[in-house]
Amino acid sequence: MNWKSSYPEIAWPAVMTGNAAMLAAVTRQYDASQWWKPEQLEEFQYRQLTKLAEHSLRTVPFYAERLKASGFISGKPMTAEIWRRLPVLTRDEVRDHGELLQASTYPPYFGGTSTANSGGSTGIPVRVLKTGMDGFMWQAAHLREFAWNGVDCSLEIANLRGVASFLPALSQNPNAFEDMGGLITPDWGQPATMLWKTGRMGLLEPTLPLAVQAEYLIKRRPGYLIMRPSGLRLLLGYFREQGVILDSLRSVWTMSETVDESLRELCREIFGCPVFSNYSSNETGYIALQCPSGTNYHSVSESSLVEVLNVKGNACKPGEIGRVIVTPLHNYAMPLLRYQVGDEAEVGPPCGCGRGLPSLTRIVGRLEDYVTLRSGEKRRVHAEHYRISAIRAVREFQLVQTSLETIELRLVLSRILEDEDKRSLEALMQKAFGSYLEWAIVIVNSLPRTPAGKLMQFRSEI
Ligand SMILES: [Zn+2]
Repeated sequence: MNWKSSYPEIAWPAVMTGNAAMLAAVTRQYDASQWWKPEQLEEFQYRQLTKLAEHSLRTVPFYAERLKASGFISGKPMTAEIWRRLPVLTRDEVRDHGELLQASTYPPYFGGTSTANSGGSTGIPVRVLKTGMDGFMWQAAHLREFAWNGVDCSLEIANLRGVASFLPALSQNPNAFEDMGGLITPDWGQPATMLWKTGRMGLLEPTLPLAVQAEYLIKRRPGYLIMRPSGLRLLLGYFREQGVILDSLRSVWTMSETVDESLRELCREIFGCPVFSNYSSNETGYIALQCPSGTNYHSVSESSLVEVLNVKGNACKPGEIGRVIVTPLHNYAMPLLRYQVGDEAEVGPPCGCGRGLPSLTRIVGRLEDYVTLRSGEKRRVHAEHYRISAIRAVREFQLVQTSLETIELRLVLSRILEDEDKRSLEALMQKAFGSYLEWAIVIVNSLPRTPAGKLMQFRSEI
């Protein structure tokens, strides 16, 4: 274990107490456990699952039934065989039986409860109860992300993820001030400030015109930029078209939408820096973080068990794509045992970096990304994101199934398509949908976002 090699050095106060001390301890633990062998991590997880199952058996009748039927016996350890017999928990079940999943009681040291809402984008809104412990595990994973990205805490962050709801509270900070339509706070906020002295953070709404965003970044010269991939793509397109330069960024951190190779390339070309991405959900917290040595993702095995299952319900092998099933190990207020998040991912081989944490090669997309045919058959949308967005005139795109017979590729363009671009797009649509749907390419001025601000790459209007 080499503490200083991965985390920025801690600005230890004379006496560190409470949450900060706990967080520092867990951070040290994470620094070691990332290198554990897969068997060691699995053993750790099954010890946690045994405790969680024991708790669920006693306090949640909904699970007591399921656990008994799967062969789990109080006082005996949870095993892989029993675990695999436990049914997957769907979003529909969480939505319909949410209250039945809540524990009648849980140990007080897990902290008070709060509610996490999620799923505006998948069409199935769910509400999940969490405790202070879940917030703590979220902070620990977030600090791992900083460590893996090799952050220099002294630099300024530009936060363009859209935080309008937090702005009134942040503006109460006596040291915050306005600059160019954004709010500048004196530090990065928690959890970073619990362990480190940091640079400033600037908050700017990503709905402002691109020219305003660009001017702001050029003036502030931040070291890091936080925003959604779709907003980043628009911004990079603007910098390219205008021929303006921003050379202060060390890396860009994205969340909540998938990142494809074309976006990573564009960012390297225009901002000269890499993109670091993560995979999380409001219900489960962090699920996986991008490996510091590549573009695959490592599960956060210390806080959740991540399974990827094929259609038969068996674990996928490396290279296979399946449903992502997550069990947060520390949610004792509303245990989610084998929760189907609603995405699909590709399982990766053991990572070359040497970490024992399991890897996912990519997050493929939502389970809902299927077109429905008149026969009732559903087919996965092969959107070929890489190739659509590799066409430079395309700023944004969305596939929309408009009827049982038709699908549209809607494009926002930065300039008129050249004949060659048109031919590539037509070939792409013909290959993907030509054999079973009529397709059309439609130019639009803008594409709608979900209430949470996400750009969905596929939408069905059926
Ligand atoms: Zn790795």
